[in-house]
Amino acid sequence: MGISPYSSGVCVCVCVCLQAMGRLDGKVVVLSAAAQGIGRAAAIAFAKEGAQVIATDINAEKLKELDGHAGIKTRAVDVTKRDQVEALAKDLDEVDVLFNVAGYVHHGSILATDEKDWDVTMNVNVRSMFLMIKAFLPKMLAKKSGNIINMASVASSIKGVVDRCAYSTSKAAVIGLTKSVAADFVDQGIRCNCVCPGTVDTPSLRERIQARPNPEQALKDFLARQKTGRMCTPEEVAHLCVYLASDESAYVTGREHIIDGGWSL
Ligand code: NAD
Repeated sequence: MGISPYSSGVCVCVCVCLQAMGRLDGKVVVLSAAAQGIGRAAAIAFAKEGAQVIATDINAEKLKELDGHAGIKTRAVDVTKRDQVEALAKDLDEVDVLFNVAGYVHHGSILATDEKDWDVTMNVNVRSMFLMIKAFLPKMLAKKSGNIINMASVASSIKGVVDRCAYSTSKAAVIGLTKSVAADFVDQGIRCNCVCPGTVDTPSLRERIQARPNPEQALKDFLARQKTGRMCTPEEVAHLCVYLASDESAYVTGREHIIDGGWSL
C-alpha cells in the first residue's frame, strides 16, 4: 500500500518543520528599554521567532534578568547619550531591525508642565530616537535594507488625553519622525513604522497608579476608559511588533499602528 501525502506521519513531519521556522529567523534586532514592560516582552517575542536580539536599557541590573535567555544578548545603554548610542552602533556589524522603545510619561496639563519636564520628556522620548536612527541608518543604507520601529502612543496626534501635555506632544513628534524617515528612505530599502498603544499593563503604569493620592480610584479610572474592560498586555503589543519586524509586513511603511482596544474610536 502506498503512503498517502495526507498520512499522519507526513503531517507530523510538516508540522514540526513549520514550527521550527521562526518569522524573524536570521534577523538581528536591536531595541531599547528592554528591561521591563513592552520592551522586555518584545525582546522575548523576537527571540522566540528566531531573531538575534540585542536588548538594551539604562537599568543594567534589571536588564540582567534577560541574561541567558536564548537568542538575547544584553547591554546597558542610555539612549539619551550620543556617545553610548554611537558606541553600540559601532560594535554591531549588521542590524536588520531597530526598535526604539524608551519613553517617559510626564503627567500634567501645559500649566502643570515646567521647562525641565518638557525638556526631559523631549530628550527621552524624541531626541533618543533621533540619535538611535542617525547612528543605525547608515548601516542599513549600506546594505539597502533596514526596518525601524518607533514607540509612539495613542496619546499624541491621534487622541487628546487629559494631563499628558508634554508626553502627547513628544509622541506626536515620534509619529512625525517616523513618517519623515519613511518618506526620505522608502526608495532605498528602508521601512519605518510606529506603534501606538493605548493603556498597557506595565510596571511603570502600576507605579504611576500607586503614586496617585487614591491608587484604587486611579486604577478604576484607567479601567473605566477601556472599552474592552481591561488593559492591553505587553505581550499583545509584542505580537504587533513581531509582525512589523518581520517580512510579512514588507509593504508596510510610514504608518502609525494603533493597538488600543478601541480607546481612540
Ligand atoms: P516602562 O516604563 O515599564 O519601562 C521603560 C523602560 O525604559 C525601563 O526599563 C527604563 O529603564 C527604560 N529607560 C528609561 N529611560 C531610558 C534611557 N534614557 N535609556 C534607555 N532606557 C531607558 O515601559 P512601558 O510602559 O513598557 O513603555 C515603553 C514605551 O511604550 C514607552 O515609550 C511608553 O511611552 C510607550 N507606551 C506605553 C504605554 C503604557 O500604557 N504602558 C502606552 C503607550 C505607549
